[in-house]
Amino acid sequence: MKYHTEIQRRRTFAIISHPDAGKTTLTEKLLLFGGAIQTAGAVKSNKIKKHATSDFMEIERQRGISVATSVMTFEYQGILINLLDTPGHKDFAEDTYRTLTAVDSVILVVDSVNGVEDQTRRLMEVCRMRDTPVIVFINKMDRDGKNRFDLIEEIEKELSIHLHPLTWPINSGKDFKGVYNLHDKNLRLFTASTKAEEEDTLHLEDLSSPVLDQRLGERDAAILREDVELVDGVHGELNVEDYLAGQVAPVFFGSAVNNFGVKEMLDTFIRIAPIPRSRETSKRVVDVEEDRFSGFIFKIHANLDPKHRDRIAFLRVCSGKFERNKYFHHVRLDKDVRFSNPYSFLARSKDVIEEAYPGDVVGLFDTGNFKIGDTLTEGEDFYFTGIPSFSPEIFKEVVNKDPMKTKQLEKGLMQLTDEGVAQLFTQFGGNKKIIGCVGELQFEVIQYRLLQEYGASVEFRAQPFYKACWITSKDPKKLQEFTRFKSSNIAEDKDGHEVYLAQSEWFLNTERTNNPDIEFHFTSEIH
Ligand code: GDP
Repeated sequence: MKYHTEIQRRRTFAIISHPDAGKTTLTEKLLLFGGAIQTAGAVKSNKIKKHATSDFMEIERQRGISVATSVMTFEYQGILINLLDTPGHKDFAEDTYRTLTAVDSVILVVDSVNGVEDQTRRLMEVCRMRDTPVIVFINKMDRDGKNRFDLIEEIEKELSIHLHPLTWPINSGKDFKGVYNLHDKNLRLFTASTKAEEEDTLHLEDLSSPVLDQRLGERDAAILREDVELVDGVHGELNVEDYLAGQVAPVFFGSAVNNFGVKEMLDTFIRIAPIPRSRETSKRVVDVEEDRFSGFIFKIHANLDPKHRDRIAFLRVCSGKFERNKYFHHVRLDKDVRFSNPYSFLARSKDVIEEAYPGDVVGLFDTGNFKIGDTLTEGEDFYFTGIPSFSPEIFKEVVNKDPMKTKQLEKGLMQLTDEGVAQLFTQFGGNKKIIGCVGELQFEVIQYRLLQEYGASVEFRAQPFYKACWITSKDPKKLQEFTRFKSSNIAEDKDGHEVYLAQSEWFLNTERTNNPDIEFHFTSEIH
């Protein structure tokens, strides 16, 4: 219990959204509240512009920006907030999925005009796998968006989560007049402002107050009274336990670019968002309050600049105290390692730190010792679990163009896949190497890096697969039969686990029906 106070004051979360919903803008406003940045516009968007989809050096430039803003730490009302950034581009979705394993909660931004979009859906699926607590921010209320009730219904239905509005909007678009705070029972009138200042807040004894009619006009006041009666009637008080269990998501309406409705959300966030939690490992649950240090690597960022080939491994501290220059146990390699220049990330600048506590993220210089999912402890052998690999969606065979460089190619493929750039599958006893990615861009990155860093020249040959399913069975014989019978669709992942490569959903469903003893999994634990 040595670090109780430090743990209690930490909140570690990520903002997730479909690109363009307003994640960058919201991030910037939150940092303003935390005093981490003084002026608007300081947070660079790490979003990759559409026209640049084939220009991956541009992507790297953008990724370079994104490493600086990978973790942003700021303080608000005595609470230390670690905000983990996630890449917006869908081709880097796996990076985002893994970052979600390192946070204790998320804020989901939904565009009030577009509602639930592709990435919103996928990211929420990942959150649901871990029952991550979610707060929803419905953004761009200053635009003519969908009807508020329809939007709530759409989000609930599409994302299979119960919503609990904590603020309620008065109109949208040019008629947007503000939000009513259902919890504090006050009305905040809409003013466009980019500064972190108190805005017009109207405290109301109750909604029948004539002040409401004066400020909103009779019609809008009447609508608000009706809405609130309806919403209160359905939802009542928020049950924080339900939120913490990932079953109910509090909802806020606002406009990030106008810094409107953001403070309400932030104030609630620090009140209800989970403190760092205890975590499962391969051996036992590690209590967050344990004195002994433990943590895991959830992301590795490699620098493509040939002059600076260093990698940064991101460590999430799970228990105890991380200390600079202290030896910790690298479980997979069974060796003790120490770090003389661990980084913390105070918005936009990296600082060497002396110590870190549960919930914190530390950047470690890495010369190739780490892979995603690695665990560091004070001596005990266990792995943190719940850091899954997800099925890739594009598969290509690696064709070696330079047989003299076969060794380099092998090494390059191993290291790049350790970093989590892509997944490697081998078929036919190791003869055929297949790379699986979520997006096309990753293939370009791999081709470029294999050549630049390992001198290996490759081409890719498209494979007709759409998903990789990890297969298991209680009956080893059945599994053996299946893999023999379907050998052209069977491969091994890097850890030697068998996967079934499905050509289409139809094939997959057929195999599932025909082989009831075999289980098909879309994710696999890294260990
Ligand atoms: P991201 O891709 O999710 O990071 O989205 P950005 O924060 O970059 O925002 C995308 C665009 O939406 C930018 O042009 C923002 O200025 C704009 N935007 C963000 N918030 C609002 C808002 O509340 N209202 C309006 N009208 N535009 C917004």
